[in-house]
Amino acid sequence: MVELFTFGINNCYVLSGEKYAILIDTCPARYANTLFEIIKHKNITLLLITHGHTDHIACAKYISKKLHIPIAMHQKDQILIQQPSAQKMSALTPLGIVMCQNVKHQKPVAFFEPDILLTHGQRLEEYGVKGRVFSLPGHTEGSIGVWTPNKEFFVGDAMMHISPILKPRIYHNKLDMERSFYNICQSDATAIYMGHGKPIFRQNTLIKNLKLQYKMYTNCISMGCRQHIEMQKKKK
Ligand SMILES: [Zn+2]
Ligand SMILES: [Zn+2]
Repeated sequence: MVELFTFGINNCYVLSGEKYAILIDTCPARYANTLFEIIKHKNITLLLITHGHTDHIACAKYISKKLHIPIAMHQKDQILIQQPSAQKMSALTPLGIVMCQNVKHQKPVAFFEPDILLTHGQRLEEYGVKGRVFSLPGHTEGSIGVWTPNKEFFVGDAMMHISPILKPRIYHNKLDMERSFYNICQSDATAIYMGHGKPIFRQNTLIKNLKLQYKMYTNCISMGCRQHIEMQKKKK
């Protein structure tokens, strides 16, 4: 079962198995206690962080202490806990430029050390939920998602539903970001859950349109478009 909780523009998710659940991401610090009150009776065994941006990790220490649960994230984003601007960000749109500035001037969150460092393919069964870690670098170096056997895809900020564009407005590495975005679009996910904005489901026209666009890209491979060749290689 998936439960979505929105705080301001941030989404957190509780992904539940039969007995236990994991929390995917936190929210800005001012919502820490509200988040705790909502999830405290949900048998949460793990806090999984999709990436190290402040709006996702700000309550990590607080929630981890209150619930006595470990924090898991990718090692490559660990540096962002103490230095939020350690990974240089670029912008895709005017909104992205504003977001970049926000990241640049962000203060570090309450310090914590992740208890578990996640890698691609890692299983989550020992925390009571069926699912696997899926590497989605680009938005940040250590961005990860979670893929479940029900084909639910939690993608953090590797996709953003704040307008029909869906692409992350800010990224650390453009090619990686494009690749991760392509992987999400081409997956057969029944539901895509993002860090910002409403979830989108299989029949969503935005995803259908993106798949069509990628089909066109595939056809232009003979024109030597490097980025799309990379994507095609990955697909094989
Ligand atoms: Zn982010
Ligand atoms: Zn975010």
